[in-house]
Amino acid sequence: MTAGTNTGTNTGTTAGTEGLEFIPPAKPIIGDEERAAVDRVMRSGMLAQGPEVAAFEVEFAEHFGLGRACVAVNSGTSGQHLGLLSCGVKAGDEVIVPSFTFAATANSVALTGATPVFADIAADDFGLDPAAVEAAITERTVGIMPVHLYGHPAQMDGLMAVAQKHGLQVFEDAAQAHGASLNGTPVGAFGSFAMFSLYPTKNMTSGEGGMVSVANEQVERMMRLYRNQGMEKQYHNEVVGFNNRMTDIHAAIGREQLKKVDGWTKQRQANAAFLTENLSGVVTPPVAPGAVHVYHQYTVRVPEDRDGFAAALKSEYAVGSGMFYPVPNHQLAPFADAPHADLPQTAKAAAECLSLPVHPSLSSAHLERIVTAVNALAKAGA
Ligand SMILES: *Cc1c(COP(=O)(O)O)cnc(C)c1O
Repeated sequence: MTAGTNTGTNTGTTAGTEGLEFIPPAKPIIGDEERAAVDRVMRSGMLAQGPEVAAFEVEFAEHFGLGRACVAVNSGTSGQHLGLLSCGVKAGDEVIVPSFTFAATANSVALTGATPVFADIAADDFGLDPAAVEAAITERTVGIMPVHLYGHPAQMDGLMAVAQKHGLQVFEDAAQAHGASLNGTPVGAFGSFAMFSLYPTKNMTSGEGGMVSVANEQVERMMRLYRNQGMEKQYHNEVVGFNNRMTDIHAAIGREQLKKVDGWTKQRQANAAFLTENLSGVVTPPVAPGAVHVYHQYTVRVPEDRDGFAAALKSEYAVGSGMFYPVPNHQLAPFADAPHADLPQTAKAAAECLSLPVHPSLSSAHLERIVTAVNALAKAGA
């Protein structure tokens, strides 16, 4: 499950919401342009990785001002996995990751044979705390993987400083953060590589897919090898690789979405500004100085009975919401043995976070209903 998919499908009206249209927590937008692009590829007869993928890679890097090459793959998770392999991460290594994220972050580390080591997030922020990261470093640590969670950049100044001091690589999980930036630097331009997810609920989609920005030609070459069975020249395999290629059908969708994503981001930001101005009784999401937040999620903190709050939003006001993520990764079965210090801010965020609809399809009536609902429930609970 990814952001927006594990809560609130439209189950019709419930008691008290008769006649109210359900406001979903996420809504992918697919237009005639995407349909025509798919049709164009279908008619070409060339469906697998080809010219559409090559063009999408160049256009993506240019669009977000990354100043580096991009490599397209079949999902964000495979992008992270191949990125780590391409940067030399292997069994016996440790990579420091947040526990408060989608499990793909730690999964990608574990899939290389390395160990994910969980560090806490900052108190007023949902991203890795540089001091907690520094405290988690051992002689086996090779890298840090911050997540630009919800579309807000992680504390890259502090994290890059820790990495530099200890000779570590930085790998960015930018799955949720297309277009976000910190002090003018776009996310995706900091680390040895960065992964952007193109899953349908993310800020832009290709159906499924991932785009990986790479810091240098060596990482780029390895990414391209691992993506394609280890082949640069056909049938002259150089390493053990995967088939993690993106299809031209998916790339064609992504290229059309790229033309629209800036408009959607502006709408997300306007929706978020309205919510922050009008919500009361919940803690609205902070934006760090110098940060551009692209609001993949608009996540408030509900200090008391978050689950009851979410249930009432749905049953009394037909407002969908999401919890990203209610179970910290260090408590998931696959990571039960992974090392971690105490993670008090992770536990607190997992108990309090609630993502309200912020997607670009919301009408002003939807936004008004969300504000009315949240403020009434917060007041009743106070
Ligand atoms: C969506 C997501 C991923 C994985 O991307 P997929 O394209 O779904 O494989 C990884 N990390 C985070 C934080 C995500 O939200």
